Amino acid sequence: MSEQRFTSNSEGETRAVAVRIAGDLKPGDVLLLSGDLGAGKTAFVRGLAEGLAIDPDDVTSPTFTLVHEYRGGRLPLIHVDLYRLDRADLDEIGLDTDLAAQGVVAVEWAERLSRRFADAIVVRISDQGGDRRAIEITR
Ligand code: ADP
Ligand code: MG
Repeated sequence: MSEQRFTSNSEGETRAVAVRIAGDLKPGDVLLLSGDLGAGKTAFVRGLAEGLAIDPDDVTSPTFTLVHEYRGGRLPLIHVDLYRLDRADLDEIGLDTDLAAQGVVAVEWAERLSRRFADAIVVRISDQGGDRRAIEITR
């Protein structure tokens, strides 16, 4: 178990942290993102996309769609946003498990998942006031 802590002072810095993390990702990795609305979870996922050579502008907040898939990068990126659910089971939200095994899954509002993932990468983003964010990554 290792823990890394970063301080970000802008959306760009949050993305840059995620770009670095993306460089180490391998097929089947799951990232569980938590943090309040506006913390920067989607910004972080844009950085993951960028680091995987996927166009970060393709990454939107999947407000009505729970799952978005982005291909064409080093690994497929599966972006899940559970904001609209109280409680969610990854098995029930239409996640393509074959694709998930080949790619990287990033889950926003991961605290709403009913099942814990033993070897997930846990990303906690907390608002420190203004544009300042603390990013804590445990794996
Ligand atoms: P979430 O997905 O957690 O709800 P978003 O990534 O959609 O959050 O939005 C974060 C908002 O906060 C954006 O409007 C972004 O410009 C702003 N912001 C300000 N400072 C930061 C920072 N340090 N990191 C990330 N986003 C920031
Ligand atoms: Mg979001």
